[in-house]
Amino acid sequence: MFKIFVTRKIPDVGIQFLRGKKYDIAVSPYDRVLTRREIIKYAKGVDALLCLLTDKIDGEVMDGIGTRLKIIANYAVGVDNIDLEAAKKRGIIITNTPGVLTEAVAEHTIALLFAVTKRIAEADRFARAGKFKGWEPMLFLGSGITGKTLGIVGLGRIGGEVAKRMRDGFNVKIIYYDLTRNEEMEKALGIEYFSLETLLRTADFVSIHVPLLPSTKHLISEKELSLMKSSAYLINTSRGPVIDEKALVEALKKKIIRGAALDVFEFEPKFSPGLAKLNNVVLTPHIASATDETRGKMSELAAQNIIDVFSGGKPKNLVV
Ligand code: NAD
Repeated sequence: MFKIFVTRKIPDVGIQFLRGKKYDIAVSPYDRVLTRREIIKYAKGVDALLCLLTDKIDGEVMDGIGTRLKIIANYAVGVDNIDLEAAKKRGIIITNTPGVLTEAVAEHTIALLFAVTKRIAEADRFARAGKFKGWEPMLFLGSGITGKTLGIVGLGRIGGEVAKRMRDGFNVKIIYYDLTRNEEMEKALGIEYFSLETLLRTADFVSIHVPLLPSTKHLISEKELSLMKSSAYLINTSRGPVIDEKALVEALKKKIIRGAALDVFEFEPKFSPGLAKLNNVVLTPHIASATDETRGKMSELAAQNIIDVFSGGKPKNLVV
């Protein structure tokens, strides 16, 4: 019988799906991130590991689990927590959960853009602290959105969805930078391709949607931040290390840019010194895909990838 270990409780739908197939399935006894040792201990001898983006899975962990390991099904679209080369060498299949979280992450990105430009979190703190003494002409002036320019860095599934919704819903001009041009989307959405440098100089809002790779680590650093308009905002729902967070704190302190809204952090779950003290940032704890609908679908998809491999087929969401 095929054995599966799930590194943390996830929505039940995927687990039930696997149980229905009569696999031997165990879920972590703890509601926290497991240590490497614990993953190896609990997953020893399994055929499939269903893990999260908070689990660092390298060659040593793979070897510790053992030679029966056929598939690592990541409960995320980003796979930067897994050593893909090590998996390839050992003939272990890696899958992810793309697509089903696109809308949730796009919605969260837009929510962050509104939260930071309208100063929602800051004003909420002010109101709760009993500081609201009545309407004032200059209280919490923020930035308008309609008619402004949004620069998307990484026009993939999520970046494309943010572009579409902001253009259609808020009459925002969209420009983008990606490794490859997407002329179909340019035509369909009436959007323009810019170099990263020109995008940063032009956009009123910059939203990051690239995967974390060696080539995208610190894609936005001191130099890139200095190119942005002093009235501009930076939004990141991709992965923390894509932005040099120390440089971002400096840029926010010195008002090199007007604000930032982040769902992901370079040293997650820690914030770089000074970040959480700033009023011109909105911080959410890596929850962009956290909707009932999406997390359920991610659970189903991760389970389906395991079933595909156990049935001898090609999994729907093969990464390597
Ligand atoms: P995708 O693969 O559809 O899109 C990524 C885009 O980035 C592609 O168009 C690709 O060409 C582009 N790209 C890659 N390297 C680049 C580079 N060096 N410069 C410019 N562009 C580059 O992925 P997606 O489904 O849109 O997801 C994007 C990322 O969002 C994921 O990799 C993941 O890390 C992150 N994510 C975060 C959350 C969250 O909870 N905050 C949830 C889902 C996804």
